[in-house]
Amino acid sequence: MNILITNDDGIYSPGLLCLANIASRFGNVRVVAPDVEQSSMGHAITGSRPLSYKKAPVNFGGIDAYKVNGTPADCVSLGTHLSKTDVVLSGINMGLNLGNSMWHSGTLAGAKQAVLLGVKGIALSTPAGDIEPDFKGLEAYVEKALNLLLVNKDVNLINVNIPANPKGIKWTRQSVRQYDGRVMPGTDPRGRKHYWITVVPLEAAEEGTDRWAVDEGYISMTPLRLDLTDEKELTKALVKEPVKWT
Ligand code: MN
Repeated sequence: MNILITNDDGIYSPGLLCLANIASRFGNVRVVAPDVEQSSMGHAITGSRPLSYKKAPVNFGGIDAYKVNGTPADCVSLGTHLSKTDVVLSGINMGLNLGNSMWHSGTLAGAKQAVLLGVKGIALSTPAGDIEPDFKGLEAYVEKALNLLLVNKDVNLINVNIPANPKGIKWTRQSVRQYDGRVMPGTDPRGRKHYWITVVPLEAAEEGTDRWAVDEGYISMTPLRLDLTDEKELTKALVKEPVKWT
């Protein structure tokens, strides 16, 4: 199995190194990751300038590794162009990607881009606070998750979130809640106004969702699809008369 590893935290992230090491137990691994952090850049692609890659400035213990002056989605496009790829693993992100985060996550975008190119995509994230996540402690659980997902032919795009010392695994759906979208004004040292934006959920997580599973101490695995169509609404619209200009 040819495995391409990317992330959105950038080539220096310890989460990327951890994932590359675990993945090498499953097949041939190559790392192609952004040269600088691209968190929350979503599925952006670079179309207005050319991309290039260089050997990674980090030792990946014998694993081929490259940095790209682009986004996670760019890295997947370039990585799959450079060598045959059967699966893309994106992460391990330092920070959970649950609920609304799926809309702006660069980690998940790496996996989505893979699926757009006809390759399986798995995004992996873990909580990160002031101290670095215990990647050594996570290894066994990441391996268990990959054991399950790499052989599963039914799911193609999966968002995985792994809390520390998880109790087990739960298959979940995406939590969709209202967010506060707060804007915190401040002043920079030159007296200019600046703003921090925050996204904090306003309501508790619904049972069966990704947020709920991680709150309960479980690994959350959410199977996703690229088709955003609201089938229910479309069905409703289709029973009406087609729109005609008179
Ligand atoms: Mn990130």
